[in-house]
Amino acid sequence: MIANWSVSKPHHKIWAWLFWVIIGVIMLSPMIFWATGIGQNADNLSAELTRQPDGALLSSPKAQAYHQLMFPMRLERMLIYPLLILSFQFSGGAVALRTFIEKQIEAGPLTPIRKLFRRWPQRWRQRLTPGDLLTFCVFVLVLNLAIFLLYLPFNFYRGFMVSHQFGLSTQTVMGWFSDWGKSVLIDLFIAAGTWTTLYSFMKLLPRRWPLPVGGLMVAFLFIFTLLTPTLITPLFYTVSPLENSDLRTRILTLTQRAGMSADEVYVIDASSKTTEVNAYVTAFGDQQRIVLFDTLINDYTPDQVEVVLAHELGHWYYHHVFLSLMGIGAVGWLGLFGLRWLLDRLWPWLGLRSPSDIAGLPFVLALIFLASTFSLPVENGFSRFGEHQADVFALTISQKPDVFVTLFQQIAEQNLSIVDPPAWEKFIFYTHPSISDRIHFAEQFQTD
Ligand SMILES: [Zn+2]
Repeated sequence: MIANWSVSKPHHKIWAWLFWVIIGVIMLSPMIFWATGIGQNADNLSAELTRQPDGALLSSPKAQAYHQLMFPMRLERMLIYPLLILSFQFSGGAVALRTFIEKQIEAGPLTPIRKLFRRWPQRWRQRLTPGDLLTFCVFVLVLNLAIFLLYLPFNFYRGFMVSHQFGLSTQTVMGWFSDWGKSVLIDLFIAAGTWTTLYSFMKLLPRRWPLPVGGLMVAFLFIFTLLTPTLITPLFYTVSPLENSDLRTRILTLTQRAGMSADEVYVIDASSKTTEVNAYVTAFGDQQRIVLFDTLINDYTPDQVEVVLAHELGHWYYHHVFLSLMGIGAVGWLGLFGLRWLLDRLWPWLGLRSPSDIAGLPFVLALIFLASTFSLPVENGFSRFGEHQADVFALTISQKPDVFVTLFQQIAEQNLSIVDPPAWEKFIFYTHPSISDRIHFAEQFQTD
């Protein structure tokens, strides 16, 4: 029965063939995008918005060219990435990798981990061995590192070359690689922790694992979000208090008006990497932080900075971070039960030893990727709603709709935004209302 169910040998060959073709596509596609010449030509294009006689805004030629290059790259990743990991799964590559790692571990020294295990109850030691734990961890690290390296040319082209061609990046090659290295290390660390924990619980509690894993996941989400400003941001940027005391007073007055009790404003040296502008407010209990990109302070008027801040305070006022974490946590927790249901049924077909076989991880990753891709319209719908709430809040407490309009025109020019994307693109991909929707709303806004 199990033999009939598993992905059969002739299919293995087709999937293996597909796997290598996909690797070729990922490695070569940057050259194809480069060969279009769109990036090389970007320097000659104007980044200025135009207004048509009827008042409608038109994206700059530079923004249009940028979109023409970036959008197919985004689609490529969306389609090719799940195919890559699924073909690795179905070709038998994942099982072969797991077997190989197990052999290496059996031959290698396990004593330190075995010692750690002596304190465990006998029942648990039988279900989860030191060898299992190490296999989980090494499998996750090898798989993730391979994906990072495979996507390195693609990401370098997209994140460094194209960004430079369009004048969006100020980073040096060394700086880019140093950031890449840091984010790879952070991601590997998180992935190894997450998946080793999940698969260990699957072994220890074969029926009930979604309960504790879901709880840990929600706790981790909150702790990670709470610690990001103090732990992760300083790894990439220099964070310092805002020195301009006029601006500082204005910002703190604004936060008080919104009902927040922050007493310091921080600046990060974003200009060392990018020309894009941003700001954010983080708050958990008493820890309230206002962070501005230095690009915002350098290029925008104090009035405009105030409107940006007012928008960020809107997110704080409506508890958007907390609500989105709750939403992600709840959906993710339910998803774990769905995952258990699927793995309990599909493991023989996938050629695995049990549902808790780490060789099934690529399948799990593909499921998660596909689920989050298909839920994009819903997720982004919520996001656009929250962004609009924050815009209304910004206009209400700042009472400066005309500053709001000039601010978003300047942001659109600087960030090379498409001001009025087609409705379907907005529906699927846009986390924020389009620039033209935001400007249009501000123009209709009645001040008190
Ligand atoms: Zn926002």
